[in-house]
Amino acid sequence: MRAQLPRLKIVVDNQAAVGMAAEHGLAIWVEHHGRRILFDTGQGKALRPNTELTRNDLANVDLLVLSHGHFDHTGAIDYVLQQNPSIAVFAHPEVLRQRYSIHSDCAPKEISMAPEEQLLIENLPDTQLHWVWAPVQIASGTYLTGPIPRVHPLEDTGGPFFTDPDGRHPDPITDDMAMWIETERGLLILCGCCHSGLINTVTHILNQSADRRIYGIIGGLHLKDASAERLAATTEALSRWNPEFIIPCHCTGEHAIDHFRKHLTTPVHTGYAGLNLQQEIAQ
Ligand SMILES: [Zn+2]
Ligand SMILES: [Zn+2]
Repeated sequence: MRAQLPRLKIVVDNQAAVGMAAEHGLAIWVEHHGRRILFDTGQGKALRPNTELTRNDLANVDLLVLSHGHFDHTGAIDYVLQQNPSIAVFAHPEVLRQRYSIHSDCAPKEISMAPEEQLLIENLPDTQLHWVWAPVQIASGTYLTGPIPRVHPLEDTGGPFFTDPDGRHPDPITDDMAMWIETERGLLILCGCCHSGLINTVTHILNQSADRRIYGIIGGLHLKDASAERLAATTEALSRWNPEFIIPCHCTGEHAIDHFRKHLTTPVHTGYAGLNLQQEIAQ
């Protein structure tokens, strides 16, 4: 049965194994039922050296999924398309939106997808670019959530995100989506930054799935500024879902990871570029 578990490797993350490049960003390589999927691309510099090191040849990837449009997930689209000009791309149309992060103590920072990457996406033929409006199956046993209903009262996008540089219009990050994979041990869930909130994300996935078991959760959970109440609610939900492991990485925040370690019986593995799910975690 083990052959049916997906093969998964983090290829870009804020932290990296010795010899690999680290950057603020995320990219995860997944192989399942003979299909290869790249989930996000990082912010641009780390994907190439890291995939060369791990011998994950981007020319062999079937699908590229963009979890949302932030620069730190979409910066190497040009390199992916160069390596694999016919790759199928899945994203929500709002990935192309202008967006900013605005903290009171510094100038607004633009965090949109870079213009050259946007142009490449816009110029893809309809047969290659798949806009995702709702939950959709993209490969055998592999699904995207599409936009995630924001239901939980304590969950927000996780930061001071706006669609204008003056900070008048909050960015709901509607394009944020997660991917889930059916395995014989339950659902494996991949999050980019989880701007919809983990409880909202997993609830939405469980509403689509006949299988109620969560095998594992991996990705950025964007909890670095989360309130104590939100963190407690997320921890309570995680203990209820009782996955076999969680691999928080990228933007999750150390405080949240420590909190999970302290309060969950579920093994919590900090993610990093180079992490191989089969070799290090899945038994
Ligand atoms: Zn991010
Ligand atoms: Zn983000």
